[in-house]
Amino acid sequence: MQRFQFPVVQPDPALEELREDLQTFLKAERAAGNFQPEPECWMASSDPAFSKKMGDKGWIGLTWSSQYGGHDKTALERYIVTEETLRAGAPVGAHWIADRQHAPMLLEHGTEDQKLDILPRIAAGQCYFAIGLSEPGAGSDLANVKTKAEKVDNGWKINGQKIWSSGAHISHYMVALLRTSPADGRNRHVGLSQIMIDLSLPGVTIKPITDLSGDAHFNEVYFEDVIVPDDCLLGAEGGGWKQVTGELAMERSGPERFLSSYITLETALYQLQGKMGSDSHGRLGKIFANLRTLRGMSWGIANLLHQGISPETEAALVKDLGNRLENDCTLQVRALLNDLPVKEWSDEMRRILNIGILRSPPNTLRGGTTEVMRGITARQLGLR
Ligand SMILES: Cc1cc2nc3c(=O)[nH]c(=O)nc-3n(C[C@H](O)[C@H](O)[C@H](O)COP(=O)(O)OP(=O)(O)OC[C@H]3O[C@@H](n4cnc5c(N)ncnc54)[C@H](O)[C@@H]3O)c2cc1C
Repeated sequence: MQRFQFPVVQPDPALEELREDLQTFLKAERAAGNFQPEPECWMASSDPAFSKKMGDKGWIGLTWSSQYGGHDKTALERYIVTEETLRAGAPVGAHWIADRQHAPMLLEHGTEDQKLDILPRIAAGQCYFAIGLSEPGAGSDLANVKTKAEKVDNGWKINGQKIWSSGAHISHYMVALLRTSPADGRNRHVGLSQIMIDLSLPGVTIKPITDLSGDAHFNEVYFEDVIVPDDCLLGAEGGGWKQVTGELAMERSGPERFLSSYITLETALYQLQGKMGSDSHGRLGKIFANLRTLRGMSWGIANLLHQGISPETEAALVKDLGNRLENDCTLQVRALLNDLPVKEWSDEMRRILNIGILRSPPNTLRGGTTEVMRGITARQLGLR
């Protein structure tokens, strides 16, 4: 049985300077009315103009080389940027996924031409990516993917459907997990590959799906005889399963897994200043103790990623605990607000809490369900 690793990260004054720069920028943008803070902002709140400003500031593409438009910084500096933008509920959804997982994937598997063309545009906050994993019938059981890529002269022909593709309607590319050859008997992990698809190509149809809050931030994406060139195959043909597993560790471990509802908590704290009953102090203490612990675990994972380690199980644990905390945070804020008559709530409080409640249910699904996270953790502990 392997032990979990969550290395402690020591405070670094240089990182705190970066944090202050971000806080100043975000405060000014909010005061100028350039964004209204929202819970789940990395998933459901997108503004290409805001992404471009983040790019101009050098806050996208922090970890990759300046040769490809990046900024030669560390995973820990990137962590500060993600933490502060989430805390502020800023509209970072457009660039979030490309910066988090597809740029590192292109760095590892892309051709030199792709790196020189696409990475600088991602770092400038002007090129967005969608994740093409789920299909009807292939969610938790991801190996059941049926969308096919067939080899044709100089490329691949793609047919099938993806679902729940966050941000596909504003994205330039999707990286999709596709079946490129049949499964080997019961081993369905073979024959899957990752292919980058330009979403403006003929044969691609994107249809929005509306969530409980009335927003349409995810989509169904259909492919009908879509032809992509050979070099859109990312990594090894048939090696898609292994690649996706590594990518999911990056996807599951970040602060977006426990800070998505922080803005709801912070707004409530301003509302309740001097008006809180003694019950509320205990509730708040519990939330902040949990936040602090999860932050330490998530920082530890950023540190492992910085060392080139892919901590799949630790990431599953952070996602499971973090999702529970995010949902609990919204529920606890509702309870805390019992200390204040509804007519005294600010419009901002009402707006943020409404959005937070309506966007909470998917937290335990997106990026892998709670049950699946617990299965991964149990396997690591030798319990399955
Ligand atoms: C807001 C949001 C955004 C998303 N964005 C994207 C995206 O950008 N790209 C993308 O590809 N996908 C995306 N998804 C899809 C997401 O990854 C899937 O919803 C998730 O993997 C679950 O798959 P499913 O919906 O098919 O549910 P199912 O897999 O059908 O699960 C249904 C229920 O059965 C349980 N279950 C299933 N298998 C097991 C098991 N082995 N053991 C115990 N319980 C089990 C699940 O925990 C769940 O409760 C998004 C989803 C949401 C809600």
